Amino acid sequence: MEELKALAIKKLEERGVTINDIALIVKDIQSIYRNISIDECIDTVLYVISKRETIYTILTGISLDEAAEKGLLDEKVNNLIKNDKGLFGLDEILALSIVNMNGSIALTNFGYLDKIKPGIIGKIDNEGKKKIRCHTFLDDIVSAIAASAASRIAHNVEEN
Ligand code: MG
Repeated sequence: MEELKALAIKKLEERGVTINDIALIVKDIQSIYRNISIDECIDTVLYVISKRETIYTILTGISLDEAAEKGLLDEKVNNLIKNDKGLFGLDEILALSIVNMNGSIALTNFGYLDKIKPGIIGKIDNEGKKKIRCHTFLDDIVSAIAASAASRIAHNVEEN
């Protein structure tokens, strides 16, 4: 699993997303409630990414984005993914496999991030819209990881 986790992180970076980018979003959400260090956010993001479900979702979602970018899929499916139509919806569904493991706050955060698109989420969303790259699955995956990490931190605070 360690090997797959390293691969998932490498693929995220190849697609323009670093652990630090995701941690900054987590810090932003949580700073409403309390002061939190970027290191704690990075550790929690890495914890979320160490889970099997997260790793599989990252690798599968990015594979689909890359395949659509290269035009490797069935033409109709390829267009659906490449054009990131609002009603396609499977990108959100795939990302929910990450959110679902991390408590109800993760789901609320996920909806919030999908609307606001802060930081790196907005950046990749723009790249996708301008057809620079296909990030149909990636934006939801990054939102799901950030939403889940923020949720874990919030739940930890309540337990302490
Ligand atoms: Mg999407």
